[in-house]
This record gives sequence, structure tokens and C-alpha cells, in this order.
Amino acid sequence: MPGPFSPLPAQVDLPALDHQVLERWREGKLFQRSLESSAGRPAWIFYEGPPTANGRPGVHHIEARTFKDVFPRFRTMKGYHVPRRAGWDCHGLPVELAVETELGFTGKKDIEAYGIAEFNAKCRESVHRHVDEWATLTERMGFWVDMSEAYWTMDPAYVESVWWSLKVIFDKGLLVEDHRVAPYCPRCGTGLSDHEVAQGYETVVDPSIYVRFPITGGEWAGRADLLIWTTTPWTLVSNTAVAVHPEVTYAVARTADGTFVVAEPLLERVLGPEAEVLARLSGQELERTSYERPFDLVDIPAAHYVITATYVTTADGTGLVHQSPAFGADDLAATREYGMPVVNPIGRDGRFADEVAVVGGVFFKTADAALVNDLRNRGLLFRSEDYEHSYPHCWRCHTALMYYALPSWYIRTTAVKGQLLAENEKTDWHPANIKYGRYGDWLDNNVDWALSRDRYWGTPLPIWRCPDGHDTCVGSLAELSALVGADVSTVDPHRPYIDEVTLPCPTCGQPANRVPQVIDAWYDAGSMSFAQWGAPHRNNDIFQAAFPGQFICEAIDQTRGWFYTMMVVPTVVYGRSSYETVLCLGHILAEDGRKMSKHLGNILEPLPLMDRHGADAVRWFMATSGSPWSARRISHAALDDIVRKVLLTYWNTASFFTLYAGAAGYDP
Ligand SMILES: [Zn+2]
Ligand SMILES: [Zn+2]
Repeated sequence: MPGPFSPLPAQVDLPALDHQVLERWREGKLFQRSLESSAGRPAWIFYEGPPTANGRPGVHHIEARTFKDVFPRFRTMKGYHVPRRAGWDCHGLPVELAVETELGFTGKKDIEAYGIAEFNAKCRESVHRHVDEWATLTERMGFWVDMSEAYWTMDPAYVESVWWSLKVIFDKGLLVEDHRVAPYCPRCGTGLSDHEVAQGYETVVDPSIYVRFPITGGEWAGRADLLIWTTTPWTLVSNTAVAVHPEVTYAVARTADGTFVVAEPLLERVLGPEAEVLARLSGQELERTSYERPFDLVDIPAAHYVITATYVTTADGTGLVHQSPAFGADDLAATREYGMPVVNPIGRDGRFADEVAVVGGVFFKTADAALVNDLRNRGLLFRSEDYEHSYPHCWRCHTALMYYALPSWYIRTTAVKGQLLAENEKTDWHPANIKYGRYGDWLDNNVDWALSRDRYWGTPLPIWRCPDGHDTCVGSLAELSALVGADVSTVDPHRPYIDEVTLPCPTCGQPANRVPQVIDAWYDAGSMSFAQWGAPHRNNDIFQAAFPGQFICEAIDQTRGWFYTMMVVPTVVYGRSSYETVLCLGHILAEDGRKMSKHLGNILEPLPLMDRHGADAVRWFMATSGSPWSARRISHAALDDIVRKVLLTYWNTASFFTLYAGAAGYDP
């Protein structure tokens, strides 16, 4: 008599089997039924970090999605109810830049000429296009997540939640506008936050130059030069002062090349052992010594003398620091003490103003060569070397960033640093060393979050300002309607439509316009715990029941991205982090140990990879080859190995068993 085990063929086509299984899951609505049958059990909350819908998914996305699938399935089997909601990150520079590339744009001028409404429509369309590819990958790899109810960060309800949270922060006095020197991408025309900067360091070779600033006042006038060191010759055009440490001893020393003022601890390193010390002075004694600036190209009144600043060190350089307040936070603070002006000869596009001699119209980084040459020709260049160092670049477009004084909106995260450290203390990190290492260090060195972006496709900053500077922060479209005195609840809360809404200032009655900025898209993603539900305006009970989340999981570089914003936003708004346990994943590398890139031609595409080896082989690789947080190399050979040693061994065992179980009429 036939037993319960129908025989399995000895040969198996694993990718074809995948499709049969996926079909069965789809037809039988297995995921949905697993949720229905577990309803009412204790919940175990997983938050899906929304992938940025600006490009096609890669193999490394299978890695994160494998772990995002394995743990919820495991918890479901352990008797929990594990709702899993997909999400799509829709706003931000990545999307804008992809569209700019498509349209052949080179900057903001092109966007404005094209029209903001048209440009944003393209961004929206681009998001939809890429989400389809993500959905295909998600289904193909067998990741159970509900995409039919996915949250989209560009949905009006989502935007309104984000607005509400910003208003909470505004009302606490922690959302402020400030004029600070901040990292700025001249290509994208916007400031960036420190967590974005942290993701964009690249190794470059810059000129490292020592420059003579002849002394023009006091005892050493005409007899000695201040010696300064810089790796950004382009900032010398706007040199405003030279800073010394008040308590450091400076030597006036003679060499065959002339007489120089250098910090004594650096004397030998800079001038060599032969230098003859003629005098010693404290930094304090050097204060107000006037000098001749290196370039006389822009007007900078009431400046060009030595100032004291305690941030000056003798760790490198000469112990005398050239000051250019428009391009350095320390410089700005130090020169402000002396009432010096902030002169900025460089426009928002990163180019020197046309009327500046020698470098007019030249991109700031490109100007270095001409400026160094000019110094050399005038005998002011003491020494010049190449200097290889790590310099911040735009994480999206790879343009060298500049530190640039511009008005920007900040969340004063430094005011809640103690709370953030306490939340980190309670967080279960995997691997454990991230807590006090990579992430803890990041929190220890916390700086305020530069939130605003001078861009187009993002959540508009919901602040309306009247001509007298009274700011009104708005938490929803309903609230906006009440302020306007007309129903604007159906207005698209994006630029340019929301910009057209004006309201009478609640303080003085004058018309108030929205400030022009949008916000950092990392804020959108960091708000997903409540904004995915539209809370608190909508579904507040569902949100409350699903907060905080038990588990999140992303690539390790998110310590400065999503892991950070998922802790910061809810901590400021709700007084606690949004997650309890976090798994950090290592990078997936190509067979040659390098990052996969088009340029290197070593990319493995996720769908063809699964069609060749089957989804299980790829998932098995992600789940078992080494620890999840170390970098791992994937290759056809590694996957062939898994198919042969693991999956076919398993298949053959089952096939062997069914054959003999059938023959023996075995019925357990
Ligand atoms: Zn950029
Ligand atoms: Zn007003």
C-alpha cells in the first residue's frame, strides 16, 4: 500500500522549485494567513527601514532582507504575532540627483528653469518606477513583508506626521535657525548634516603649503615673517587674521631663508635643527601684531593682525593658524571676538566671484594651483608638498564639500545628548562593541543636526515667517487651514504648491510665507515608527501598540544614518528611542574583495543570481557565511558550493528517504 511520502525525483532544478513555492505562497496567501492565525498573540515588532527608492536594488540588499525575514519568521514560530509592513523612502537628494542626471541637468539653475512643479513630478514618478523593481526583488527572494500596505514617506499623511513632530520640537525650543559654518555641497547647493558628511570621506591629495606673512607692525616689522601652514590655499584669498595660542611660546628664528615666527615646540620640525633663535615671545605678546596678507584680491577692512585663540594647537603646522571666518567654524568664532568682518568671495555654486582677480569664476578647489603659483612667483611660498588626506565629499554627487557660512535650521540634539546616551545604554546592539565604539563615539561627539536643505523634493519645513520675523510652526494641514481661514487640507504638502499658501501672522497679522527649505530625508526615515501610521493625527492606537519596536536591522553604515535618526527623533518627541535590538550587517563584497561597482565590472545582479543558483542558496550564503557584521565576499563559486554541499545534500537525503519510506510502506 502507498505510504504518505510521495517519491521525490533524484534531480532538482532549484530556481524552478523557487517559482513553484512562490506560486503556492501567493495562491494560498500564506503570509497573510500566518498573520491572521497569529492575531491576538503577543506582538513582536519589526520596523522596516525604508530603502531609498532612487535606484535599483543590489545583492547587498538581499543580505539585509534575509535577516529581516529570518528573525520575524523565527519569532512567529515561537508564538508571536509579527506584523511586517514595507516602506519606501521617497524624498531627498538621492532622488533629485537621479532625476537631474536623467534630465541632463548640472545644478539648481537648470531645475528652476525647468520648473519646480515639473521637477518634483519627475521625482515622484522616479520613485514609483524604482519601487516596482524593489517589489520584484522582495517577492523573488521570499521576503515576507506586506507591500500592499507599504508606507511612503511622500504620502500627505506621512508628511503631516513629520510636521507634527517638528512642531513638538519647535515648541520645545529645539528647532532653531542659526547662521553657522556648515558642510556645504556647492554642486547640490545645499548644506549637509554631519551624519551625511560622515558617509562621504574620500582620500585626496591636496597641496600642503607653508606661507610667509611679512610682519608690518611692532618690533619685528620688516625683519621677520609669520609662517602659516594650510592645505586649503583657496581660503587664503579671504585671509582675515592669524591665530596663535596665548600660552604657547613662539620663537623668532633665523635660517638661511629668512627670519620666521613659529611655535617653539614645532621649531625644529618646520625650520630644521640649524635655525637660530633670536627671541621668544608668548602668544599673548604677539597679539595685534599686524602683517601683510598673502592676497590683496578682496576688500577686508579692519583685519590682518594676530589674534589669540585657545583652539590653536602645536600638533601640526606651525602653531600659527590662518583665519578665514567664512569657511571655518573655529575661525568664525575666533575672529568674531575681535569684531572682524566675515568676507566670502565664493558664491553658492562654489566659484569665486567673477570680479576677483586671478581666480574669478574658478571653482574653489581648482583655484589652488593658480594661487600657489602666484605665491611662489612673489616669493611668499616657504615650502610646498603634496598631502594625502581624507577630505569630506558629498555622499551623493562626490563633489568636494566646503565649510561655508550660511543660515540653516538645526535640531539642537546637543541639548538632549544625555538622554541619547541613556537610550543607547538600554539598546541591545549586535555586535555588542558598536554600543560604546562606533555608535557611542558618534553620540559622544554629537553636534546639532543641520536639518534644512535648500532643495526641492523633500518634506517642506512647516514654518511660516512674516516680514517681522515671527515664526509659526504648523503641525498639520487642518491646523494650516485654521490659520489660513480657508480649507487647504487637500493641497499637496510639497513644493511648490505648499509655498503658495500664505497665512496672516498670528502675532502681528502681516502675511507670512513658508520658509523656502525642505528637510533632511533622514528625518523622514527616522520618523517611521509613528509617521508610518500617520500618528498622532491618525491610527494613534495602532502606533502606541507597536511602539517601540523590538527589532531593526540594516547595514553597519547606518550607525550614522537610520540607526541614529531612529533614536534621535523619537527621543526628542516621545522621550525614548524607537527600537530595542539592532543588528548591524557587514558589507557584501565582490569576489575580488572590492566593493561592487560598475566601473570595476564586478557587479553581480541580484535577480540573475537567484535565477542561476536559486534564492535559498543566496539566502543561505547571507545567513551562514561568517558573522553577519563582517564584510563577506560573494561569488558564483561560493554559491555553487552551497548548492552542492548543503541544498543538494538535503535534497538527496529527502529523496532517498521518500524512496525507501515508500518501498517499506512507512507511516509514522
Ligand atoms: Zn552634492
Ligand atoms: Zn508677524
